[in-house]
Amino acid sequence: MKILVLGGGVVGVATAYHLLKDGHEVAVIDRQPPAQGGASYGNAGLISTGHAYAWASPKALTTLLQSFIHKDPTFKMRLRPDPQLIRWGLKFLRECNDAAVRRNTLAKHQLSVYSQRVQGEMAEETGVQYHRNNGGLLYLYRTPEALESGAATMKILQEDGQKLEVVDAKRVFEIDPSLAHMQDRIAGAVFSPDDESGNSRLFTEGLLEICQKKGGTFDGTTTIERIEASGDRIERVITNRGELTADAYVLCLGSWSPLLVKRLGVPLSVYPVKGYSVTIPVEDDHTPPAVGGIDEERKLAYSPLGNQVRLTTVAEFTGYDTTHTPQDFEYLLAKASDLLPNAGNYDKAEQWAGLRPMTPDSLPVLGTARHRNLYFNTGHGHMGWTMACGTARLTADLVAKRTPEIPLDHLKLR
Ligand SMILES: Cc1cc2nc3c(=O)[nH]c(=O)nc-3n(C[C@H](O)[C@H](O)[C@H](O)COP(=O)(O)OP(=O)(O)OC[C@H]3O[C@@H](n4cnc5c(N)ncnc54)[C@H](O)[C@@H]3O)c2cc1C
Repeated sequence: MKILVLGGGVVGVATAYHLLKDGHEVAVIDRQPPAQGGASYGNAGLISTGHAYAWASPKALTTLLQSFIHKDPTFKMRLRPDPQLIRWGLKFLRECNDAAVRRNTLAKHQLSVYSQRVQGEMAEETGVQYHRNNGGLLYLYRTPEALESGAATMKILQEDGQKLEVVDAKRVFEIDPSLAHMQDRIAGAVFSPDDESGNSRLFTEGLLEICQKKGGTFDGTTTIERIEASGDRIERVITNRGELTADAYVLCLGSWSPLLVKRLGVPLSVYPVKGYSVTIPVEDDHTPPAVGGIDEERKLAYSPLGNQVRLTTVAEFTGYDTTHTPQDFEYLLAKASDLLPNAGNYDKAEQWAGLRPMTPDSLPVLGTARHRNLYFNTGHGHMGWTMACGTARLTADLVAKRTPEIPLDHLKLR
């Protein structure tokens, strides 16, 4: 079958790989080079199955309300008449109850674990290099109360089979000696020994080369203007370089996905949630972290990526704007250089902002809806690097009409 993959982030390229393995003729189009136009470029790099929690929860509601009263440097919502945000927000509110948290977290954890396994297999069969670090991840807590609360939260993942250990500060510094200066300021951590980190841009670029060797094509100069349908079929994609046709289409446009299917009458609940990252070079006398992690109270995620360290934070609901100013990085740089002062050269930090394609329930959207040849693989939110390889393989299963290895009940268009 001739298949056109719309979007060349990690999700689109991983999807192309699995479709090519099934023998399809595959073309990927994007308006940017691979992994450069979206979130796959500068994310925190964590493969965090041990942190596969849904964002919507009763606690998230409290955080939201508090943020309007006390200014929270890690969370921003610009209140304005944005119908996309209002519709998304109402659905998000419906997920802020205990039953939904449990359902969404378990579905997300199952998908993340599956995806990590698929990614490991892909890394082995292709030899793709992406600074993979499989030494686990540390979820750090600064006070005994916060550690206790983190330990209680993790139970749901532990009961679902995730290996998680509550460790004291001494053990934290054995796992990662670069944190030793935090001796008096860290109470302990939840350590997830099976978690990993890696560079999603390098993975995407490397995997794309392998796709091209398998006969796949990539065009990073094509802007998709609209998708045209007739009845229950997509007929063509109109781009700045003319029209493109295929037997089937896979929508992997991250945060921009709803904009392209809106005029087809498909209500896709994906909202862009902006985050910021800095990437610092590791030079001779630096001591980068041994493993990645999250400074939980400060919402700072970090990972060692070869001769660089990546640090990210902030969730902003401000629409599709990806611009940034030096002020946007003040909080991030202050907290980063406090936690990891000697991780790398902060004076040479590469600054970046990107959009997490969030769904209200933190689960991606897979499968078809009203058009039988348009497959969704989008809405991976804050954990798309973790879930990309799994949803790619599941999408190939759906195209091939094979029974997927995990149930997709919670992942259909909703
Ligand atoms: C700050 C931050 C930190 C994160 N940290 C982590 C983490 O530690 N672990 C984790 O698992 N996930 C993390 N994520 C989430 C993860 O990065 C995303 O979920 C994932 O990259 C989404 O991949 P994607 O391929 O769906 O989308 P994207 O990478 O955004 O790709 C979408 C592509 O669509 C293209 N496109 C859009 N519109 C058009 C158009 N009209 N025509 C042509 N092309 C178009 C864009 O150019 C882009 O290349 C983080 C995200 C952010 C922002």
